[in-house]
Amino acid sequence: MKQFGYVRAGSVAEAVRIAGEEPDARFLGGGTNLVDLMKLGVATPRLLVDVSRLPLDRIEELPDGGLRIGATVRNSVLAADPAVRDRYPVLSQALLSGASGQLRNTATTGGNLLQRTRCAYFQDAAKPCNKRAPGTGCPAREGAHRDLAVLGHSEHCVATQPSDMAVALAALDATVHLHGPDGERSVPATDFHRLPGDRPEQDTEIRRGELITAVELPPARPGGNSRYRKARDRASFAFALVSVAAVLDVHEGAVRHAALAYGGLAHRPWRARAAEAVLHGASATEDTFARAADAELAAARPLRENGFKVALARNLTVGVLAGLAGSAARA
Ligand SMILES: Cc1cc2nc3c(=O)[nH]c(=O)nc-3n(C[C@H](O)[C@H](O)[C@H](O)COP(=O)(O)OP(=O)(O)OC[C@H]3O[C@@H](n4cnc5c(N)ncnc54)[C@H](O)[C@@H]3O)c2cc1C
Ligand code: SF4
Repeated sequence: MKQFGYVRAGSVAEAVRIAGEEPDARFLGGGTNLVDLMKLGVATPRLLVDVSRLPLDRIEELPDGGLRIGATVRNSVLAADPAVRDRYPVLSQALLSGASGQLRNTATTGGNLLQRTRCAYFQDAAKPCNKRAPGTGCPAREGAHRDLAVLGHSEHCVATQPSDMAVALAALDATVHLHGPDGERSVPATDFHRLPGDRPEQDTEIRRGELITAVELPPARPGGNSRYRKARDRASFAFALVSVAAVLDVHEGAVRHAALAYGGLAHRPWRARAAEAVLHGASATEDTFARAADAELAAARPLRENGFKVALARNLTVGVLAGLAGSAARA
């Protein structure tokens, strides 16, 4: 590991100021991803600005019925919050499907959103990788890519976004709040992560020196229910091969509202707009759910080893939506 400086910020303004003065500074949340990458020589910041103890650790009710989640709220605290469990179960389930209890106790909301891809070439500093070292190539395209993208990839990168929480936030139409050298702004969670295009080194729309301060959830839909399901190689401590975050509101047998996002399929949480268009107003049957999945997954371009993800995503979609529709029918 290379030598680096460390400073603990006392306020948001101080964190942003210090990070703005050092081009190679990185914010430190729980450190569960960044410190690993530093040990591997993949991240080499000159300065860590510790933001983990900033007073951004509250979950607050908003006047419109939504929730504001501070950036330093720990993943375990967020998953266990009664309002989240009750009104946004998809978020609680997504968090609990990730990492381990110990990691969730340390990991923060801001850090979780910005964790980096688990592509094996990215994590090996001795290998070429356009995301880690732009212009060196993408060995994953022809090499080991079983876990990687089938949607929205480019010739420059086929990596997937690893955060389960981010997939739930995309389905919930959350908003990410940022504070940077040029002031405050907010970005819809669906637009926060990028597709790789010809700049795979840029995972998200965040600008240099910007700090995530909070994530806001809009009010939960009355009558809507939500669920997260994740397919992975083992039951815990594994990233998604495919995951589905779904919000469904069924009234008198027809879909009144549906929001669907996939994890494990793309460089960003994949909001399934084509599937939603099929679902809206249609009868809440397995046939409709399968047609919705097919409409979305028609755009898939699997690589040599990961075609199985398309069938897996279709099956997960039908199972999750049928489960939610069944709960609505029994309610
Ligand atoms: C063995 C293992 C298994 C895992 N399994 C899963 C899994 O199945 N699903 C899953 O979703 N995750 C999984 N994770 C990842 C884990 O969830 C992340 O490491 C964690 O959420 C990152 O949060 P952190 O606060 O520790 O981030 P850090 O490591 O502190 O930071 C991560 C990045 O975010 C930046 N950052 C941190 N806070 C802010 C902020 N407020 N504003 C701007 N930038 C910020 C840092 O500079 C850094 O670039 C796993 C991790 C491990 C080690
Ligand atoms: S898929 Fe992306 S992260 Fe993986 S080797 Fe290719 S460029 Fe690097």
